[in-house]
Amino acid sequence: MKYISTRGKAPVLNFEEAMLTGLARDGGLYLPETLPQWSKDDIAALSGLGYEEAAYRIMRPFIGDAFTDAELQDIIARAYAGFGHAARAPLVQLDSNHFLLELFHGPTLAFKDFAMQLIGQLFEAALKRSGQRVTIVGATSGDTGSAAIEAFRGLDAVDVFILYPHGRVSEVQRRQMTTPSENNVHALAIDGHFDDAQARVKDMFNDFAFRDEVRLAGVNSINWARVLAQVVYYFTSAVSLGAPHRKVSFTVPTGNFGDVFAGYIARSMALPIDRLVVATNQNDILHRCLGTGEYRPDGVIPSISPSMDIQVSSNFERALFYAYGQDGAAVAQSMDALKEGGFTVSQGALQALREVFDSARTSEDETRRAIGRTYAQTGEVLCPHSAVAVDVATRLRDQATPMITLATAHPAKFPDAVEEAMGQRPELPPRMADLFDLPERISRVDNDLPAIETLIRERIAK
Ligand SMILES: *Cc1c(COP(=O)(O)O)cnc(C)c1O
Repeated sequence: MKYISTRGKAPVLNFEEAMLTGLARDGGLYLPETLPQWSKDDIAALSGLGYEEAAYRIMRPFIGDAFTDAELQDIIARAYAGFGHAARAPLVQLDSNHFLLELFHGPTLAFKDFAMQLIGQLFEAALKRSGQRVTIVGATSGDTGSAAIEAFRGLDAVDVFILYPHGRVSEVQRRQMTTPSENNVHALAIDGHFDDAQARVKDMFNDFAFRDEVRLAGVNSINWARVLAQVVYYFTSAVSLGAPHRKVSFTVPTGNFGDVFAGYIARSMALPIDRLVVATNQNDILHRCLGTGEYRPDGVIPSISPSMDIQVSSNFERALFYAYGQDGAAVAQSMDALKEGGFTVSQGALQALREVFDSARTSEDETRRAIGRTYAQTGEVLCPHSAVAVDVATRLRDQATPMITLATAHPAKFPDAVEEAMGQRPELPPRMADLFDLPERISRVDNDLPAIETLIRERIAK
């Protein structure tokens, strides 16, 4: 399979190249040139399969000859072996025709493990074969960094450096980053905000001498391999509820648009999805854009669902590319305008988006009430991100179509917000009970590019 850029000007790559590159050279994001179309029989045949076997069948055509069948099966098996639930992504019923897809049974208790665990194994296999070594750097507000460190710890071909804002991640998130003892993973606490961490990572990619010297690579949510891994649970959950014989809808708590975009890919592969509902917190740029066509960032307001506190939603570019009929020039123009403050989606493209996506936003108070209400009615404890989505789904769903709401993190990852909402403190799963006893390795670093680069060089040399 060939991969093309959303801005139409970067070289066409194969799967392995697109995965290792991340961002395209024209600033765009990679997408498959064509999408495989699944027949009803293909979809029906997923029924009753284990998660790993379904993942193999769904991802196989996208990967081309980058890996043999046996290699890919082995990679998938290793990726999901550390999950704490045999079904990997179990469905729980909340109400008549409303279901919760629990995506928080991975090693760091957030849905990002589905993609990051897979990408860790894919990187390791590809790099070992070519004898290369890379340095992965990333910035995190919490979940991505812990998922990346967990996925890459102890692997031979990769060093990982994660910059997080000192004092601004939850204690569970920090401990998940600072307690792994393998010396190829490093959590760096930067003096500053998430935006500072993100800016220093960008600076490193733009420092070409440094970039080449340490062979920088990125695993942020624009990496196509991450989107692909997330396509799988749309298929498995829809099939559990009767696809291909019955349509289902999904509500997705959304920030960078990576998760809901995976649903869009599943739908484009002929999985019968009726609506994809984008649920946002008070940072509602996506909801406003789907309503008015105007995409104009205006500053992040911190919320109790911090992984959705976002103004520039990078994977939205991929949806725009399809909405504009794969016109890379139109996407490039919008992205140029974004640098100057914002852009307006054309009427035709907006209509195309609305054929698939609905959207709504939920306030902080409504989010807290949804946590309390869901617990009272079902006994299910929601994290604040999942609560945003449950609240939106409850308001928007049509009763006749099964609604699957994605639960993206375990409540124990955000204990303060959950306790405030329902008066009880959620507990970590027993397999993680020692998190608060393990020794931490904390490295403080100034918000200063040369200081960060020097530290990375020294650590790699060891
Ligand atoms: C990252 C994250 C989201 C947002 O997912 P996107 O793919 O960025 O839209 C939602 N909930 C949680 C818990 C997350 O970690």
